[in-house]
Amino acid sequence: MTGPANPAPEPLISAARIAARVDELAAEIDVQYAGVDDLVLIGVLKGSFIFLADLSRRLTVPHRIEFIAVSSYGDAESTAHPGDVRLIMDIRHRVYGSHVLLVEDIVDTGHTIAYLQRLLAARGPASLRTCALVRKPERAEVEVPVDYLGFDIPDVWVVGYGLDWAERYRTLPDICVVHPEP
Ligand code: 5GP
Repeated sequence: MTGPANPAPEPLISAARIAARVDELAAEIDVQYAGVDDLVLIGVLKGSFIFLADLSRRLTVPHRIEFIAVSSYGDAESTAHPGDVRLIMDIRHRVYGSHVLLVEDIVDTGHTIAYLQRLLAARGPASLRTCALVRKPERAEVEVPVDYLGFDIPDVWVVGYGLDWAERYRTLPDICVVHPEP
């Protein structure tokens, strides 16, 4: 007998805990950028879109929003070779001289963030920092600076709060774990 086509997600981090942590991150970011009038939040599509929307609405510091998209894993399978990250969609407006805060869903091996940090640093921003919703320390292959972090999690596949498994489960309010059949 074969396993279920769609694994049942099990809650890992509740919506209430996420909301409380996003409040704390926004407060830290407000302090860091107090008085700055050219802050740009760059959301990494697609997984960060809900996190970015919540974080942005909790900030009091003025900021603009950009999006960037890179190639990532295909569905639930890891198909990326180390360092093999491709730009799918670039930001629309220049960031030269602006304060950039990169907003990512997950730091897994770290290659995606390392690539994006190199790409954006080369464009001459006034500063470049990174905010990530979750990080999997056990999976780290490259050291990447993460200035604002929601949660460290174990080596599991997470969905919900914008994160998908084969484009499913993005709208679950909690961050949940799925155990896809091998
Ligand atoms: P990295 O380059 O750090 O290995 O991979 C980062 C990207 O892999 C994330 O932005 C995300 O798109 C994807 N990813 C890694 N782990 C997970 C996971 O547990 N769930 C989901 N939905 N995406 C993941």
